Amino acid sequence: THPVYARIDGPVILIGFGSIGRGTLPLIERHFDFDREKLTVIEPNPALTEELEARVPNVVAEALTEANYREILGALFEPGTGFVVNLSVDTGSLDLMRFCRENGVLYIDTVVEPWAGYYFGTEDNADRTNYALRQRVRDEKAANPGGTTAVSCCGANPGMVSWFVKEALLKLAEDTGRDAAMPADRAGWARLMMDLGVKGVHIAERDTQVRKEPREPGHFVNTWSVEGFIAEGFQPAELGWGTAEKWMPDNAHGHDFGCRAGIWLEQPGAATRIRTWCPTPGPQFGFLVTHNEAISIADYYTVGAPQKPEFRPTCHYAYHPCDDAVLSLHEMFGSNQIQDVHHILDVDEIEPGGIDELGVLLFGHEKNALWYGSRLSNDEAKALAPDQNATGLQVTSAVLAGMVWALENPQAGIVETDEMDHKRCLEVQLPYLGPVEGHYTDWTPLTDRQTQFPEDLDEANPWAFRNVLER
Ligand code: NAD
Repeated sequence: THPVYARIDGPVILIGFGSIGRGTLPLIERHFDFDREKLTVIEPNPALTEELEARVPNVVAEALTEANYREILGALFEPGTGFVVNLSVDTGSLDLMRFCRENGVLYIDTVVEPWAGYYFGTEDNADRTNYALRQRVRDEKAANPGGTTAVSCCGANPGMVSWFVKEALLKLAEDTGRDAAMPADRAGWARLMMDLGVKGVHIAERDTQVRKEPREPGHFVNTWSVEGFIAEGFQPAELGWGTAEKWMPDNAHGHDFGCRAGIWLEQPGAATRIRTWCPTPGPQFGFLVTHNEAISIADYYTVGAPQKPEFRPTCHYAYHPCDDAVLSLHEMFGSNQIQDVHHILDVDEIEPGGIDELGVLLFGHEKNALWYGSRLSNDEAKALAPDQNATGLQVTSAVLAGMVWALENPQAGIVETDEMDHKRCLEVQLPYLGPVEGHYTDWTPLTDRQTQFPEDLDEANPWAFRNVLER
């Protein structure tokens, strides 16, 4: 039997029924008590309408736009109650969370999504960064503190990985013989990371899920949103910029507004390779795809003034997607054509044995590096919950945890996952994550480096971004 964590009074509104919406719905049905006749799914894809009408009581088969969202959502709201769960692409997260909060409706999403057209229609690359998108949400929080809870960016990453960073810090403290008492606030967590000597964090992921059928040319294949991945893959490569870094790429830029925690490079993230490490492959290339958590984690763990910090970790995504997605990217960037056919791997299309290994690699400290994360297999995902692969379940179970936390903390204002009770969230999520483990490694980006060609390296600082970035 599955625990029922809370009651949701009023309407439950799911926006988007793609790979993540489809996987989240059964978890909502399983773990919350709510009035079923008040369940609505907003999903514009006409190919899904018939299925949805058979599945849920209310379907809005329309795309939310900047022009219609107040009308469509307003007609569904019962102010002061209900929950909007945004799992779509092309919907403006900031507008949606603002409107929900005005109406006293709880809100959660997994990314700060802009309205349609933003990712490819924005001229200035600085404006296409996640730094810019996130900062607008942080400014809204600062301008309107408190009030109805809106959880920003609560998927696997961004999301769950912020809870893993805290668990990893506690493990590292314990394993190095320090007082492992849990910090009580942001400043305490930041100081703990600094005191432990952590220089940075990779969100280090290896997806080994393989489709039974080989990928055909002209198809973009992935284990979650193809549209979402292409959009973020074409955004500039971006990272939280740590105080240990002494060298910056020539094409890097900072920002002159906001938290100052990040930089971006004049090149697409999904075409930018970096060196990282995960337990299954060991050393590997990952892609420096921009993500909200790269900035939020660097910001959250900053000690001192934002413009002249005493300490800040370097932080970025280091993503090796499933092999079919690597080939899809290679084909896409090589041809300068976005493929016409987009395919998200269904749980039953995947060969036995594939896993999504998603964790945080804390590096530069006295034990060198610690990877801490989930090693969920697709087979286990299938046994745990319906309608999703391993990648999906890591995301949807984080949405579940975030919803539970929001219902237990309904007046917390706008929050990111770094700011939530990570113990409570992981307690809810852990049953869905397969093995969650810590692994130390003595590997660094300088280990076994090829020696036949001269390289511009920082030999004295193995974990420097200069050594991590493949140039
Ligand atoms: P998907 O591409 O499978 O589905 C997206 C759905 O949104 C589609 O069904 C589409 O029809 C619908 N949609 C498109 N425009 C819309 C609009 N204007 N209004 C309402 N619905 C609209 O994507 P997915 O894999 O389900 O991912 C959903 C979202 O979650 C994406 O934004 C993705 O980036 C995000 N995500 C976050 C994480 C994380 O770990 N934080 C992981 C995976 C996905």
